[in-house]
Amino acid sequence: MTKKLFIKTYGCQMNVYDSARMADVLAPLGFTEADTAESASVVVLNTCHVREKATEKLFSDLGRLRRVKAARQADGGAMVIAVAGCVAQAEGDEILARAPWVDIVIGPQTLHRLPALLAEVDRVAAAGRRRAVQDTEFPAEPKFDFLPESAQAPGVSAFLSVQEGCDRFCSFCVVPYTRGAEYSRPVADVVAEATRLVARGARELTLLGQNVNAYHGVGPDGAPWGLGRLARRLAEIPELVRIRYTTSHPRDVDEALIAAHRDVEQLMPFLHLPVQSGSDRILAAMNRRHDVGFYRRLVDRLRAARADLAVSSDFIVGYPGETDADFADTLRLIDAVGFAQAFAFKYSPRPGTPAARAANQVPEPVKQARLAALQERLHAQQTHFNRACVGRTLPVLFDKPGRRPGQAAGRSPYLQAVVVAAPTRIIGQIRDVRIASLNTNSLVGMLITEGDGMTDYDARVSA
Ligand code: SAM
Ligand code: SF4
Repeated sequence: MTKKLFIKTYGCQMNVYDSARMADVLAPLGFTEADTAESASVVVLNTCHVREKATEKLFSDLGRLRRVKAARQADGGAMVIAVAGCVAQAEGDEILARAPWVDIVIGPQTLHRLPALLAEVDRVAAAGRRRAVQDTEFPAEPKFDFLPESAQAPGVSAFLSVQEGCDRFCSFCVVPYTRGAEYSRPVADVVAEATRLVARGARELTLLGQNVNAYHGVGPDGAPWGLGRLARRLAEIPELVRIRYTTSHPRDVDEALIAAHRDVEQLMPFLHLPVQSGSDRILAAMNRRHDVGFYRRLVDRLRAARADLAVSSDFIVGYPGETDADFADTLRLIDAVGFAQAFAFKYSPRPGTPAARAANQVPEPVKQARLAALQERLHAQQTHFNRACVGRTLPVLFDKPGRRPGQAAGRSPYLQAVVVAAPTRIIGQIRDVRIASLNTNSLVGMLITEGDGMTDYDARVSA
């Protein structure tokens, strides 16, 4: 069978980035992308451990792959199944015990060793044996030093990982255990990768890190640079028109980052700044090291620097011990801040984290009811924010064709999806768009020419 690779990615943008890097390390061995697991010789499941649901999904996918692999073997063929990412890191032994048809277990920090692990699987198979191989080390040398340049051209909007791991140890979160200690890539490496991405067509870069604004990579001057300074340096790259970053911890927003939002035109006025709860009691129990007042003052300072800054957040409902009064505080915070969008999750006990051991877990129906109420409130705010854009003209970076023929799709500065009737040749450009109406998940608009007259493509899109 030809070397065909299928990667399924669960979870966050960091995993999307890591999956692309795994494809990069296997490309020199002759692997090309398969459309389905059924047509692949190597299947990688790049997993997420942040909530239990994602782990359950992994085991259900592994059950399905077991049948695909058995059918392939019955035909005299072979299939290698690898589990990568954070579940592999945290529960490697359990995966091999529960799913002995898995061949490779590889953690997020060793993905550059995937070719060596595949060679080991082949070597053992050639000797007529079968043994799973596992590599979930936290190596001293960062993986970034071993990753080849990507063979794939980036999209108009590309991810760039600048920071990994976390030292904050919020009491609900597995990230410090699965991704390890905080690490920031040197400024020169980030600038070199950004320059390559832009030279190959990227116009927007989203800088990634589990706690990206804890970034403190060593600069060309030998001193640690924060994220604000890094953004200023990246903004010097000609043709890089937009810079974003995610995800941030409120405690790690410093003056330099706030000033960058004021001064750096390429830094988009959208900030994902998770608060998790609006109750000081719960924030303290979560070990967030900030209270509601701190968060609100921070948002005020950011908005003073950049008046149109749109703020997004994450919320957890049903954290152990959360009362109705705590939850009411969260709703109050939402009303006070006004979010452009936000994500809400039911608290999910994660093995090894302090909160999972708490005795006062909140019953599932209570979590469910709070989640529904929170989502309704957040949805109303998002609709309010989007509706306020109707009638405005926004610069949109077009990055892909729309879902229907004759459409192009892009993002506003505030990360809203925008659809217009336009030829796909505008992909890669920033064009002014008059926003005409709202769809469920996007804004619908019309292209505007420089003279403010409508273009040939000014028909309202009925997406
Ligand atoms: N570093 C970011 C921060 O400081 O908020 C968050 C990264 S975390 C991988 C992404 C989101 O998952 C969190 O903001 C949180 O809302 C959610 N999350 C993390 N652990 C969770 C858990 N045990 N149960 C439910 N949601 C969780
Ligand atoms: Fe997890 Fe974010 Fe807290 Fe780090 S700062 S422990 S990644 S929630």
